Amino acid sequence: MKITRVTLWRVPLTSHETYYMAAGKACATIETVVVRLDCDSGLSGWGEVCPIPHYLPAYARGVEPAIEEMAPVLLGADPIGPEALMTRLDAHLQGHPYAKSAIDIALWDLTAKAAELPLYRLLGGRQAEDLPLYHSITCVEPEVMAEIAQEARGTGIKQFQVKLGADKDWQADVARLRLVREAVGSGPLVYGDWNCGAKRLEATRVGRAVADLDIMLEQPCATLEDCASVRAATGLPMKIDENAHDTESLLKAHALGCMDAVALKLSKFGGLSALRRARDLCLHLGAKLCIEDTWGSDICTAAALHLAAATPPDAVLNVCDLSGYVSPRLDPAAPVRKNGRIAPPDGLGLGVAPELDALGEPCRVFD
Ligand SMILES: [Mg+2]
Repeated sequence: MKITRVTLWRVPLTSHETYYMAAGKACATIETVVVRLDCDSGLSGWGEVCPIPHYLPAYARGVEPAIEEMAPVLLGADPIGPEALMTRLDAHLQGHPYAKSAIDIALWDLTAKAAELPLYRLLGGRQAEDLPLYHSITCVEPEVMAEIAQEARGTGIKQFQVKLGADKDWQADVARLRLVREAVGSGPLVYGDWNCGAKRLEATRVGRAVADLDIMLEQPCATLEDCASVRAATGLPMKIDENAHDTESLLKAHALGCMDAVALKLSKFGGLSALRRARDLCLHLGAKLCIEDTWGSDICTAAALHLAAATPPDAVLNVCDLSGYVSPRLDPAAPVRKNGRIAPPDGLGLGVAPELDALGEPCRVFD
């Protein structure tokens, strides 16, 4: 089997509500890039990447030239067993994991379709029927955030990510964590996420002010060293997100003692091949895993769900239904939330395929 055509589409994804985060960051409309790899056998594989520019050193319009650079290696290549071709792409073009993520996902879709299996069967076998979701709460007034949390709790959600730091008022952040904790009652997981936007001082003040509560902190500061200081000063468990992007960063976070949990995001690591290796390392290191992507619609979401369903359930903290936060849906038949949980698609390969009407005209075709 050979790849004969690479087609790209750009689709603006609009959040149902704008997400406000620390350091003036917000997420409203972001462009996602959808990739289709067509093969001479008639099979096609789908990939997607939606880099948030202020979130990782990548931008959606950078995907196209990176894929143009890789197209000569892709065209005519055998897609089966994605790691072999990904190794060739790494030799051809260093870095650019976000652009490679979309290609790698499409290669796994093709490989699983050729094997006539749902993708989770190739990534570790189905170990969970469905997976727990977290709900991310935009950083607004503390009382409003508590209401959003209570509403999500009513739909079965048991894990709440409280965005912090948008107004640079550490005492408001304390109120956000206290009110959300109170609103959802004891038991559910509540964690405060600064998206790197805090200094050690304010993150430590907030953490110490809520240290009597069952709270986890997420990526308060921009470096692992600063996150580790906050972890040590507050005694609160910590999730690492922005700083986790390769093997070295995972080993460093573990050595610094600040990686109780970690976000494994497809576009930061470079797709399913790289994320599967990261997952296996984290299983060894004993960190709880949030398996997801930076942003995106049904293809990114499905890819992450297949890997999460093929991971021992006691190691999975949660997953994210990214496609539920934005419109349009690329595949209206793709999985949705059910009682705070979500299951991977059951069809062959990724088990999702975008509707061509939702994609519009392709922006590039390489053949
Ligand atoms: Mg985060």
